[in-house]
Amino acid sequence: MADMDTDDRRTLIWFEHLRRGDVALVGGKNASLGEMVQSLDASRIRVPPGFATTSSAYRAFIAANGFGAVLREELAALGEGRKTLAQAGRAIRETLATGAFPPQIEADILDAYRELGRRTGRENPAVAVRSSATAEDLPDASFAGQQETFLNVEGERALLMACRRCYASLFTDRAITYREINGFDHLDVALSIGVQLMVRSDIAGSGVMFSIDTESGFDRTVLINAAWGLGENVVQGAVSPDEYQVYKPFLARPELVPITHKSLGAKEIKMICGTGDGAATRNVPTSKAERESFVLSDGEILELARAAVEIEAHYGCPMDMEWARDGIDGQLYIVQARPETVQSRRGAGAMKTYSLGAHGERLLSGLSVGGAVASGEVIIIESAADIDRFVDGAVLVTSTTDPDWVPVMKRAAAIVTDHGGRTSHAAIVSRELGVPAVVGTGNATHVLHDQQQVTVSCAEGEEGVIYAGRAEVTVEELDLAHVPETRTQVMLNLANPSTAARWWRLPADGVGLARMEFVVSNEVRVHPLALTRYEQVVSEDDRAAIDALTRGHADRTAYFVETLARGLARIAAVWHPRPVIVRMSDFKTNEYADLLGGRAFEPQEENPMIGFRGASRYYSEGYRDGFELECRAIRHLREGMGFDNVVVMIPFCRTVGEADRVLEVMAAQGLERGKAGLEVYVMCEIPSNVIEAERFAERFDGFSIGSNDLTQLTLGIDRDSEALAELFSERDPAVLWMIQTVIAKARKAGRKIGLCGQAPSNDPGFARLLVQAGISSISVTPDSFLAVKRNVAEAEAG
Ligand code: PEP
Ligand code: MG
Repeated sequence: MADMDTDDRRTLIWFEHLRRGDVALVGGKNASLGEMVQSLDASRIRVPPGFATTSSAYRAFIAANGFGAVLREELAALGEGRKTLAQAGRAIRETLATGAFPPQIEADILDAYRELGRRTGRENPAVAVRSSATAEDLPDASFAGQQETFLNVEGERALLMACRRCYASLFTDRAITYREINGFDHLDVALSIGVQLMVRSDIAGSGVMFSIDTESGFDRTVLINAAWGLGENVVQGAVSPDEYQVYKPFLARPELVPITHKSLGAKEIKMICGTGDGAATRNVPTSKAERESFVLSDGEILELARAAVEIEAHYGCPMDMEWARDGIDGQLYIVQARPETVQSRRGAGAMKTYSLGAHGERLLSGLSVGGAVASGEVIIIESAADIDRFVDGAVLVTSTTDPDWVPVMKRAAAIVTDHGGRTSHAAIVSRELGVPAVVGTGNATHVLHDQQQVTVSCAEGEEGVIYAGRAEVTVEELDLAHVPETRTQVMLNLANPSTAARWWRLPADGVGLARMEFVVSNEVRVHPLALTRYEQVVSEDDRAAIDALTRGHADRTAYFVETLARGLARIAAVWHPRPVIVRMSDFKTNEYADLLGGRAFEPQEENPMIGFRGASRYYSEGYRDGFELECRAIRHLREGMGFDNVVVMIPFCRTVGEADRVLEVMAAQGLERGKAGLEVYVMCEIPSNVIEAERFAERFDGFSIGSNDLTQLTLGIDRDSEALAELFSERDPAVLWMIQTVIAKARKAGRKIGLCGQAPSNDPGFARLLVQAGISSISVTPDSFLAVKRNVAEAEAG
């Protein structure tokens, strides 16, 4: 096959006659466009029509102009140090841009352009002229984003000019460097030009999309980035785009809206087409209305995600795609698709986890890329001209992570930028290089200064944080190849939606405890009553902050319901169809008061730990409308989004009378135990839960032992007291008696019984005692999962 391709003398081919295997002929991008035009159902996935010149055309161009010698000479000068990269690169590009096309090739290009006009009923149609590089031996090499694209090119003269400039862009500094690093011969690569009908996203929006989560490799989610105007800003990382995630397995069910994440990007600028012919695009500031609204509607997010799934299925591998919305016909188009290269190459067997110990003051934050942590000295690089100032192992701080800087990025301990999203090309380069990056911080170049020691942490979920000084870091390698099987279920305690996907490869039996209050404080941030009783919020500042957060939602309560449901969905999605036990909110009054607008609604208590907390709140006049929002979020999550693996759990339920009242409020909100498969559990964390276990068992499907509170209340020790810390032990006979007793009672009543307190996470040997007592599941923090699993397996073996 390969030989046939190399011998192919055709110089121009329409997309519909290309297949993905034609990489040697037309490069990955154009082959992929051809594959899509030819094989995908155009009624569902629109790909703009067009044609591509082949690598034979490129070689004919080089030969006809006698450029081979120039290339050899300049590259030799670079190799021997007689010229810098900038000098040699510029000389080559200037030479190539002045070349003349062999007459037949020029005639073919212009004929095809006229034909494109005829097909679309337009004379001199506007086209995008894209470069697609190709290396004969390594068709899967990612040259993406290294060569240039010229947009909104109109007319024959402009088209030919853009084509020559595409050829020249095979020798951008960045492309030369990439080939040097990856061992490609500069003379073996060729360039194919794709000429594609222009999608007018300059007057609409566009972006990037991946058929997996780029950070964790989680393969059941689509990640979409979107900004206003042409897509280059998203690719280059010049703007902070909107970000959306969609759970793929539910896309086939039209009644569901499985959008698990939506975050509004700053989208400071947008790229538009210049007037006059050719490639003169320029950036303009976005309007306030544009910055404050999502680029895509829910319907469009789902349409793109469905396209991503279909494209991935067709190619049989994770895909990296660019999309654009046409401002004239309002339709969505796929303008590029290529295999994703970073996560797919990563081995699935081992997981490295970084955790941060003692650290300095938090200086700023942005989006994390890569999961690692690194420390070093800050060097702020404002422009390419400063690059020489960079020192190996320093932290590169810049306004945008320009992919031209790959050589510097490679030498950096970490990278921090003002702008850019997770799918920016530079973020992808950082990931590929294994360098942690925090992008889109807004103002790193102002807040940080040269020679400052900092730690860049990408180990805390999607938020990347920069701390002053060098922090303590532990790195652990989890070996997933040797995890024993156990009869007792081992589940995870998770509360942070943004880190949930990181653990998707762990063979856990689901989530034993998802603490809702963490999702409220991290994602929702507003006290529910400040939304249901907004007029009682006294502070003007709080009202303004609430207005800003809830903008774009049908009403204030919808903000709470949707944001909370999506936060929980990101945890539920990773484990579906395995159970995910979501515990209703269990803040103490002082913690609720710290939520935005919360102070007006919370009493001051002497002992919040044993105060107005848990079940007691849910049916009381003082919180019931807040609890109803929590219930609505659960319904939305289970019924609107499809996560029927979600089990509800009631915390701190002091009496069976309380249990009845809470179950009644839930039922009134459409959350009825047993209906639509809903299971409701209760925490066992008060001695009364053990003493009355038989009666609780009549009301709930299962128990989960909260050993933190149960120890506190059995021994009468404030769990936060340092002075009494030594006495606080789950191994104390009184506490063990409680645990053993409730396990026995639950089993007798035919109810499930697990434990989700901290004990086995801190002390994996504790899991043995639980197995011996006959527990059905143990839920632990992800870092201790393997140790607990081993202890459980050993205890089960006797
Ligand atoms: C517990 O009490 O053990 C428990 C898991 O709940 P929390 O720590 O959230 O109180
Ligand atoms: Mg508790």
